[in-house]
Amino acid sequence: MCAVSSPKSQYVVAKFGGTSVANFDAMNNCADIILANANVRVVVLSASAGVTNLLVALAAGCDSDKRESYLKQIRDIQYAIIDRLNEVAVIREEIDRLLENIEMLSEAASLATSEALTDELVSHGEVMSTLLFVELLRQRNTDAEWFDIRRIMRTNDNFGRAEPDTLQLHILAMEHLYSRLNNTIVITQGFIGREEKGRTTTLGRGGSDYTAALLGEALGLQRVDIWTDVPGIYTTDPRVVPTAKRIDQIAFDEAAEMATFGAKILHPATLLPAVRCGIPVFVGSSKDPKTGGTVVCDKTENPPLFRALALRRKQTLLTLHSLKMLHARGFLAEVFTLLSRHNISVDLITTSEVSIALTLDTTGSTSTNGSLLTNALLTELATLCRVEVEEDMALVAIIGNELSQAKGLGKGVFGVLESFNIRMISCGASSHNICLLVPGKDAEQVIQTLHQSLFES
Ligand code: ADP
Ligand code: ASP
Ligand code: MG
Repeated sequence: MCAVSSPKSQYVVAKFGGTSVANFDAMNNCADIILANANVRVVVLSASAGVTNLLVALAAGCDSDKRESYLKQIRDIQYAIIDRLNEVAVIREEIDRLLENIEMLSEAASLATSEALTDELVSHGEVMSTLLFVELLRQRNTDAEWFDIRRIMRTNDNFGRAEPDTLQLHILAMEHLYSRLNNTIVITQGFIGREEKGRTTTLGRGGSDYTAALLGEALGLQRVDIWTDVPGIYTTDPRVVPTAKRIDQIAFDEAAEMATFGAKILHPATLLPAVRCGIPVFVGSSKDPKTGGTVVCDKTENPPLFRALALRRKQTLLTLHSLKMLHARGFLAEVFTLLSRHNISVDLITTSEVSIALTLDTTGSTSTNGSLLTNALLTELATLCRVEVEEDMALVAIIGNELSQAKGLGKGVFGVLESFNIRMISCGASSHNICLLVPGKDAEQVIQTLHQSLFES
């Protein structure tokens, strides 16, 4: 059931990620893709590759030498694109104004940083890439209009990982965006939004995929196209396993599971709007659009037992020991209430009579304060139990179908991992995944070994 009921439109939203808009030639490839399909009327862009990382570093506050170096790198990326455009006076002026803004905000951040300031700073990456891309399209005689997504993407004020208000988005998109699509191609920013007081927010790292899917839902579009640097979704990250195979068709729930467990190809929330409205999502390479890609849709024929492997790094394992747990009631409730008060969401959990092991996800946010484990939280936890913290773990997720019904899984999975320390196993709660926590340094080798066992033999 669709969360918002929009009229069905034949139009398509296309999203281009950071490497797809990294420079003038890459942007030209995106323009070719857009011009090859008259139905592409909404285009969502990320910041040019590297720019968000540099802005996040500036937002964390740094000394003037580093600041100068980061600012120069950002400026060079923008100027390299401007230098390939014709008649650049107006666009150069606009970009210069934004670069000055970035400099001013970075100076402020080096005195006192905040999450609101971080989001304001970081948003400049998407604003600049979209302005440059509109200019490039115009120079290719294409009528395109720059649109500030913050006019319609209302979010809460959870800076760094803001939640969009889908109903407001639907109402505002129908009011301000829908009618434009018949006459022009709208170029807008992924990743950013605006909270009630008018301050800029962001949807979490990699959030442009989510923006595209939200727009697809809000406008009732026919399809969401995610153009990136690999020609589709693979059985695992092809950078880790070069022999990984492309999956031509995958169901929403399988792909959502992959994204949740760290397959960077899609932001974890991307498929929520698509599932709500049943809009298919296509993933392909902007460098090589002719090689096709992966279609993510409602159902696929004969889904395999093992579909893919995903990897999430930088995991923290908390082990809580307390004899109070033995034959007692309410201990878990106390722990969870405390974690929730500290705004921490628990990811995986295993329990024994006198201890609980749980993982916290520290990826995704633009937040500059690193670990979620604050001294205040640890002190409070220590009043309940003995706390052990292990950082730099990696979560390896085996994604599949009906895993909880299958027999003999252990052999292909655990048999081949005999030389690795598996610190935690989570299996049984979902028929779609088995999760293993391993030391971060072993993660890639574990993935390679499992891939060979489950997908190549
Ligand atoms: P973009 O900037 O276009 O959003 P990302 O870097 O966020 O691109 O995502 C694309 C990257 O995702 C690929 O370069 C690849 O290394 C990584 N990736 C991780 N898991 C997978 C997978 N299962 N299939 C394909 N790519 C994957
Ligand atoms: N530019 C943002 C990031 O690097 C959003 C995105 O690329 O999707 O996280
Ligand atoms: Mg991405």
